[in-house]
Amino acid sequence: MRNRKISEHSGFKKTLTFLFAVLIFAAAAAAAKMLKNEESEKEHKEFTEDFEIHFIDVGQADAALVFCKGETMLIDGGNSEDSDLIYTYLDNYEVTELDYIVATHAHEDHVGGLSGALNYAAAEKVLCPVTQYDSKAFSNFVKNVEKQGKEISVPSAGDRFSLGEAEVNIIACNTKDDANNTSIVMKIIYGDTSFLLTGDAERETELAILEGGYDISCTVLKVGHHGSDSSTTYPFLRAVMPKYAVISVGKDNSYDHPSENTLSRLRDSGATVYRTDYNGDIICRSNGNKVTFEVSKSNK
Ligand SMILES: [Zn+2]
Repeated sequence: MRNRKISEHSGFKKTLTFLFAVLIFAAAAAAAKMLKNEESEKEHKEFTEDFEIHFIDVGQADAALVFCKGETMLIDGGNSEDSDLIYTYLDNYEVTELDYIVATHAHEDHVGGLSGALNYAAAEKVLCPVTQYDSKAFSNFVKNVEKQGKEISVPSAGDRFSLGEAEVNIIACNTKDDANNTSIVMKIIYGDTSFLLTGDAERETELAILEGGYDISCTVLKVGHHGSDSSTTYPFLRAVMPKYAVISVGKDNSYDHPSENTLSRLRDSGATVYRTDYNGDIICRSNGNKVTFEVSKSNK
């Protein structure tokens, strides 16, 4: 009797121990899951092709990250409010060093978010058409460049440099005094594929480029000034003849960008158009022979 009681008691103890073990296991599993959730907020991403341009969706603004064989260049960084987005984008790809930062011109929707980039990554070289501009976004940009012990270099049309195995040609810079027409325009060549990025350059710059006799034919055109009617003129488009065109633009923006006229000219050129307001982040990859696109959303 007594023995039985003891065994009952020890059976109860065993059950308790088992329940306790189950509880501890469940708690540990929950903790691990929480940790995993926290980790997944920081998405680890990798470049999968030797050459890539990521047109980052920064709404009514511009930002493009170029990667070629381990070297990187960030062209514009969106508005000041996009600083965190740019910081996180670079962090996801672990781009802690940028070989080039290019501010195509001084407007906030191009330089604002570069402060986020400069807070995350070490910049080797910083290009901009001007070294001074009267705005808070621009002085923040300059402050963050100086914090890294660097200074802004002003390029000239005709300059060229390499990025990995890609060649970067400066086609225009400071064509006119108004900010949009100071835009750095560049053509990036990788193998048989090429990319023309025009900042917010307008028809005056386009005309000057045509008069300069540059070869501006390309596979992918980053459409000037968010698809405004004052850019992407017919003569320019005829010389560029892009297979693909990318417009960086915000949904329902107050400028009515992109303009119907620009879209119609692009349709006439036969280019396939991608837009950040429809497609989100647009990743364009080149193997040197052909380019492929990956978009983060496909709704219209
Ligand atoms: Zn702009």
